[in-house]
Amino acid sequence: MTFNASPIESLTFENKHFFLKRDDLLHPDFSGNKARKFYYFLQNDFPEIDTIRSYGSAQSNAMYSLSVLAKMRGWGFEYDVNHIADYLKENPHGNYKAALENGMQLTVDRGTITPTTNVLDIEEGGRQKEAEYGIKILADEIIEWQKENNIKELNIFLPSGTGTTALFLQKAFVGVRAPRPTVYTCACVGDDVYLKKQFFELAEDESYHPKILSLEKKHHFGKLYSENYKIWLKLQEETGVVFDLLYDPLGWRVLLAHPEVMSKPTLYIHQGGVLGNESMLPRYERKYKGSGDL
Ligand SMILES: *Cc1c(COP(=O)(O)O)cnc(C)c1O
Repeated sequence: MTFNASPIESLTFENKHFFLKRDDLLHPDFSGNKARKFYYFLQNDFPEIDTIRSYGSAQSNAMYSLSVLAKMRGWGFEYDVNHIADYLKENPHGNYKAALENGMQLTVDRGTITPTTNVLDIEEGGRQKEAEYGIKILADEIIEWQKENNIKELNIFLPSGTGTTALFLQKAFVGVRAPRPTVYTCACVGDDVYLKKQFFELAEDESYHPKILSLEKKHHFGKLYSENYKIWLKLQEETGVVFDLLYDPLGWRVLLAHPEVMSKPTLYIHQGGVLGNESMLPRYERKYKGSGDL
């Protein structure tokens, strides 16, 4: 299976124009940045492999995408979590439910594992060098579109978790002849120091590092913020696009707080993750729907 280039739309939000790279529409089941990161494992031959093994949270987008990859390849999928909420276990939904339906074998705290020739071990969140392969293709699609539309200076924005997508994207542009796009991102999972450390782990050369933007206020991953819910609702209302509820609300808040970025043509990358909204949205609705806090 090969991907076709994902579409790019021209939209406005809060009276500011931007382009949107719809990586959420890459494929019905295998989309977003996890599909880009795992594309290498879909496209290449692995004659010895019969199982994918990974670990992380029980709600993770990476977990779901790996379950799809395993299914497409006819491989098993073993996934370890260090904790699973009783509520989720009793009421499976979102990424967790879909991954189980794809045959995921879940363990809780399985302890140490040993590398085995038939097992493909994947880092949490798909933070690994093979991700560069699929993200390079994303970069090529953007450069092609930029040329076709004769866009001189281009800013790109995408929110980060591990920072793998943003870093390999910026790296792919370094070799491009000027005007080369500038990649901006923000730290959603840890703080800016954590994200910078992730960049260094993937690439020593700082010219490959995206520019990190942030808000004054501290932000905790997975926590509910009325500002996040508000901007997510407003995005949907004004653009008609459903964004993810974990990364995109902070991404948009950060982007709007730095108007200098959007003063040039700006491409926001929709990195998928909408299935994860099945767990976030009811939490937001319980907390804020009909309340004066919005
Ligand atoms: C995983 C994910 C991210 C973060 O990607 P990194 O490459 O880890 O920085 C951002 N948005 C969505 C929707 C994701 O699923």
